[in-house]
Amino acid sequence: MDVSHIFDQLNDAQREAVALEPRPALVLAGAGSGKTRVLTSRVTFLVQLHNVSPLSILAVTFTNKAAREMRERIEAQLGFPVGGMWMGTFHGLAHRLLRQHYEEANLPQGFQILDSDDQQRLIKRVLKEIDLDEAYWPPKQAQWFINHHKEEGRRANQVQISPDPQQQTMLSIYKQYEQLCQRLGLVDFTELLLRAFELMKNNEQLRTHYQQRFEHILVDEFQDTNSIQYEWLKLFAAPQNNIFVVGDDDQSIYGWRGAKVENILQFEKDFKESKVIRLEQNYRSTSNILNAANAVIANNDQRLGKQLWTDSGDGEPVKLFTAYNETEEARFVINQISKWVDDGGSRSEVAILYRSNAQSRAFEESLLSAGMPYRVYGGLRFFERAEIKHALAYLRLADNHADDPSFERIVNFPTRGIGDKTIDQIREYARANSISLWDASCQLVTQNQLTSRAKTALSKFVDLIQALEEQMFEQELHEQIDIMLDLSTLIAHFEKERGEKAAARVENLQELITAARNFEHPEEDDLPALASFLAHASLEAGEGQAEEWEDCVQLMSLHTAKGLEFPLVFLTGLEDGLFPHQRTLDEAGDGLQEERRLCYVGMTRAMQQLYLTYAEIRRLYGKENYTSPSRFLSEIPDEYIQQIRVENRFSLHDPYNSNNRQGVGSNFNIGSHMVDVDAKHDSGVAVGSNVTHPKFGDGMVTNLEGQGEYARVEVNFTEAGSKWLVLAYANLTLV
Ligand code: ATP
Ligand code: MG
Repeated sequence: MDVSHIFDQLNDAQREAVALEPRPALVLAGAGSGKTRVLTSRVTFLVQLHNVSPLSILAVTFTNKAAREMRERIEAQLGFPVGGMWMGTFHGLAHRLLRQHYEEANLPQGFQILDSDDQQRLIKRVLKEIDLDEAYWPPKQAQWFINHHKEEGRRANQVQISPDPQQQTMLSIYKQYEQLCQRLGLVDFTELLLRAFELMKNNEQLRTHYQQRFEHILVDEFQDTNSIQYEWLKLFAAPQNNIFVVGDDDQSIYGWRGAKVENILQFEKDFKESKVIRLEQNYRSTSNILNAANAVIANNDQRLGKQLWTDSGDGEPVKLFTAYNETEEARFVINQISKWVDDGGSRSEVAILYRSNAQSRAFEESLLSAGMPYRVYGGLRFFERAEIKHALAYLRLADNHADDPSFERIVNFPTRGIGDKTIDQIREYARANSISLWDASCQLVTQNQLTSRAKTALSKFVDLIQALEEQMFEQELHEQIDIMLDLSTLIAHFEKERGEKAAARVENLQELITAARNFEHPEEDDLPALASFLAHASLEAGEGQAEEWEDCVQLMSLHTAKGLEFPLVFLTGLEDGLFPHQRTLDEAGDGLQEERRLCYVGMTRAMQQLYLTYAEIRRLYGKENYTSPSRFLSEIPDEYIQQIRVENRFSLHDPYNSNNRQGVGSNFNIGSHMVDVDAKHDSGVAVGSNVTHPKFGDGMVTNLEGQGEYARVEVNFTEAGSKWLVLAYANLTLV
């Protein structure tokens, strides 16, 4: 068969990788060098030239989005659909296995997936049950403990720890949590992986079946696999070991979640006959962007070492913008996007990247007020919003009575007179009899332990769920949602609340019907539509903002941006403490290096233009802080960077300007900044003034820009060095 159409689009090294005879192989290469392209082309190559059935291929990617794109690309190359091919994320594939073999995996058919929030809720319940005070035993810490051990493949009874009482308590939380999940048929994210791994490991018949079925295993972003995932891959790959992995040690950014970059080195040891191929040409970015990113990552040690070059020309320099706060940062970014669009660019070519999801809020507000469509990927996604989780909890409970977290979420929401005391009684009863909260409720309403008021309220709830179940029976999915919204009175509840938030919640709930209508029930999954939809809601992010087809700006965390590329990228919030994250500055370990890799990932998403921004004052999580620029900025040589500063400076001599605030954020001056020596603020502060600051001590004003409440000054402090401060907050005294 003619495969020239695949090879035409590859360079020599890529071609070699794609055409390797079946064997273990590792493609180790930097960002944008075509690793993902090689992986996709290899699938096409195997199917077309080696007559490998798509059903015999297992391909693992990092996000559902990547999996979808990959499938589309392969189908386009092959010219026929490959629906049966196993292609997805580790979690998605593990889920699929567990659904198909739930009995062998010792799970109920309708097992439900716990997201991180639900998991914490369940841990809180465990703490209560074994009489531990949350204040001393933070649920988050217990969650970390549990997940960490699971990622390493250890069940509670396999954990070996010191006799230290603190550790012992953690372990007993893990034990109790494990039992509770099993009893309730609940599976958290890490459990998906561990359970699927154990299923394969312990069941020889199944293992042999899948080992024979999957002739070829391909893995993208291999540097971010954790122990259990790697073990899982090895099981699937055996005994032929046709395992083809691509990765970049410099882009390993999930160490905090147990990923092991050492797996790359381990791979060469585990598969001694493996072939290692390096790709060195970057096709994504201009050389200014690539050189700047290379300069940053060069500060890490223990790299495997790669050369990366591009022949796509210098391009524009990387631009650095210093904002005085996060609002100005957002306005600047949106201004640049407007220009991009005015110049004929599209919004979907633009990505705003940030370290922490909470940073998206400032951008979202500015985008909304500018009327610019956008989508947030990750973070607070549609299915994670409180009202949606409430609605889903009704569906889950109707679908699976043993789903205690869902029970807890809605038993008194909207309020129906079931107080904390009653709920405690239900929990107590459930525990004493080892039954679910639902079963406990059904029994309690026929007995005399509850007050009569509580009994009436609880039996109404039981009736409600039963009615829900009955009415939903054999209805279309979107009708089921409609019925749930009606019976649960969720919409009525939020309609009573006033304000925009409540209105948005009502809209989101209504949107759920749309989501159900659009939900494509995967054919390979023989679950009822509702169960399949609920699993989808847990695994997949359905976003609530702009529609998929709409041309909109892309907002996402740096972690989410992995593997993607955009012509115009804004890497924002480059401040020490935010990025790199404070935690990594306080602790010893690899944290700071991982942050640097994250910075490298962010910078290398950019194809044509890269903006780096930071704010001198930032309000985040309700607190306001003076910041200092990220250390990563100082790692970029000046030759690749161009500074941008606000042009409008306050001047008493300009009567038109003295009260003009809207100018801020709309005019920017490219080039190294100039000092306006005549500038003077109405507080009397001017360039040359001697001032004192409560924290930084004495200094002299060397620069002044902006006006009114936006005015800011640069002060050269004798002790603390040069700093930009916002006059309104700086608390400066003229000397
Ligand atoms: P990352 O490390 O960020 O995941 P990657 O190594 O997977 O990057 P790809 O996303 O596969 O890189 O490729 C980067 C860009 O370069 C894509 O737009 C891809 O289409 C393009 N590209 C890759 N190889 C070639 C080639 N031989 N000729 C032209 N363009 C190429
Ligand atoms: Mg890639």
